[in-house]
Amino acid sequence: MRLKPAVSSFLNLIFPPRCALCGAVAPSAGMVCPDCQRENPCVHAKKRIFVPEAGQTIVCKVPYEYNGKIRQSIIRFKFYGQLQSAAFFGMKVAEEFTENKDQFDLVTAVPVSAERLRQRGYNQSERIARVAAEKLEIPYKECLMKTADNKEQHKLEKKERKRNVQGVYSPIGQEIVGKRILLVDDIVTTGATLCACAEVLFAGGAKEVCCTAVAEVELS
Ligand SMILES: [Zn+2]
Repeated sequence: MRLKPAVSSFLNLIFPPRCALCGAVAPSAGMVCPDCQRENPCVHAKKRIFVPEAGQTIVCKVPYEYNGKIRQSIIRFKFYGQLQSAAFFGMKVAEEFTENKDQFDLVTAVPVSAERLRQRGYNQSERIARVAAEKLEIPYKECLMKTADNKEQHKLEKKERKRNVQGVYSPIGQEIVGKRILLVDDIVTTGATLCACAEVLFAGGAKEVCCTAVAEVELS
């Protein structure tokens, strides 16, 4: 919803925009306060993920490391319903592609299972992806579904993660044929989930796949 500038500044006076990471008053909506910006700098990581079944290596661009206030904020967003953080996360992942947004036809998200959606009420990655799509002015399309309620990746050892996500994603409709797709997740660790989703997109006819996530987790 777009408000007239006068209405918007009046509302900002009564409800000042809050920092997405600490809740202090922020310069504008979806932004972080100067302290949080200093303490949580973007690292602009670029991860390469090999998708063996497609014979392709895809790139995953990630603005943050998964630690400090970024980690806490993602946990509140993902598990405790703090949905307003999607504005900030979506903006930060979109910024990774602002200069080459013409390289995509559509934005999509890593799906959650129907069971998880029922429990949580939302797909956190979709929330981020929809904001990013709007910022980049690229259509958001639901292209994937998760057909099995598998174990959560973060509870598994590195070597178990690839097998855990195999065969759990399926394509939806014909939207992906010939398309250059930006695939969005909340966090990336080994890249197994993005790899499994990219494999399905390629098998469904996608021309190119590129990925992004808010933060990269370092496995200890
Ligand atoms: Zn802050």
